This record gives sequence, structure tokens and C-alpha cells, in this order.
Amino acid sequence: MPELPEVETIRRGLAVRLTGTRITGVEQRRPDLRFPLPERLASRLVGRRTVRFARRAKYLLAALDDGWTLLLHLGMSGRLVFDGPPRGPHEHLTFRFEGGTVLRFVDPRRFGALDLWPSERLDEHPLLRGLGVEPLEPGFDGPLLLSLLQGRRLPLKSALMDQRLLVGVGNIYANEALFRARLSPRRLAGTVGPERADRLARAVREVLEAAIAKGGTTLRDYVQANGELGSFQNDFSVYEREGEPCPACGRPIRRIVLAGRATYFCSRCQR
Ligand SMILES: [Zn+2]
Repeated sequence: MPELPEVETIRRGLAVRLTGTRITGVEQRRPDLRFPLPERLASRLVGRRTVRFARRAKYLLAALDDGWTLLLHLGMSGRLVFDGPPRGPHEHLTFRFEGGTVLRFVDPRRFGALDLWPSERLDEHPLLRGLGVEPLEPGFDGPLLLSLLQGRRLPLKSALMDQRLLVGVGNIYANEALFRARLSPRRLAGTVGPERADRLARAVREVLEAAIAKGGTTLRDYVQANGELGSFQNDFSVYEREGEPCPACGRPIRRIVLAGRATYFCSRCQR
């Protein structure tokens, strides 16, 4: 399943290829994905120009020149593919752009979602309402993270992964960020003070940026939406490394299950 770094990589690929480009054709092959597709989708899109490509959590947001935004979520198995031949029965939507670029949405499991919504009221969309802070936005720092964690009596790792507090930090990135910040996943979130919150905010940002940097290297005609992690999996410090030496101190990495999720950490380095 694509996580924030993969979706951000895709957003950057779309922005480079398609910003300011007019949509010349839309072929829709079924009435729904996870939800019904918007009515008259093709006629509402054809002739529109893309203004910018943004992202909110794992939603891709293509702002159009008529004041509406196309929202796209890739679900479990969704991919965007540029050009090339048709991709068979799982290609549910095909977008054509001036200049000849073709963008194919392929989604075998159909957990993807697509909607049209007024750009000025995007925050009110039912899928976006209630989402937490964006860790890659400039305003995300130690004091902000501290305010999110204050008074919370749940494990720090669970708080990091709570999408109502902070978006985009899935299991892999929570494990890696906590290692980088030298904080135990089991520590109660509310016990994190200003200095540790600074460290953790920096670590979250660094881990996501590093993953995006790696995801970006593999993108070409795929808009890199196949749920793979680029090559960042080669850079894991603790994730799925149970029993291997901690990169910092050499003690074997431990694995526990926390809130139902596999959790990897160094019991010496992370407190
Ligand atoms: Zn260690």
C-alpha cells in the first residue's frame, strides 16, 4: 500500500509532467471504485486545465482552472501509469492531455477513490476533514508536535501513527523515526518534553524526506504508484531487522507487537 513518501513521489512526477496542461479526453470504464465516481465525470474534466498538484495525507489533489479539485486516493493497489499501451481490464480510467500525454489509472482491487470538490472548501471534504498535521509542511516542528502529544496516555508510537494527530506516518516510518530520535516506542506520548519533541519532529521529517529521495530515483514512465518503496527498504535501521545489530550500539534489534503492529527498536539506544 502506498504511504506518504510514495504518494509525494507520485505528486512530484505529476506536477513536472502535467501542471498547466489541458485535459483533452477521459475514458471511464466503470461507474465506481471504492465509491461511485462523480456524475458526468468526463464532461466535467474535458477542456479543463490543471493549475497545480498538491497532496493532503495520501490524497493527490489536482486543482483545475474552473475552481474544482480532482481528489485521487490510490487505495491498496492503485497505480498511475504514463503513456505506453493500455493496461488491460484493471485500467478503469484513462486521462488524455494536450501534447499527447496519457495517464492511466490501474487498480486491480478497486480500493481507490476519486472525487471532484470545490477547491476553496477542500478541508470540508468528508475524506479530508479531521486529518491531522502534515509533517512535511514548514510549520511542523518540535513545539507543534509537543502540543499534539501533551496529555496523551498512549504509547508514543501509536500517537505518531494516529492520522487525526499527524498524517502519513505509517508503521515503517514510525519505527524508523523513533530509532532516529532515540525514543522508545513504548514511552507514554504525554511524557515527551520540549527537547525530545524537537528531536522527534526532526527525525520524522528526515525519515520521510530520505524515503522520498529514494522513491524518486525509480520513477520513469510509472508514476511509481505500485506500492513499492523505491529503494528505501535498503536503508532501514530497525524495521524488519529483528536480531540484527543496532547500527548505533550493536545490541540486537528487538521486535515486539504494540497496538497490533510489529515494532522494532534498540532497547539500549531508545529510551
Ligand atoms: Zn542501539
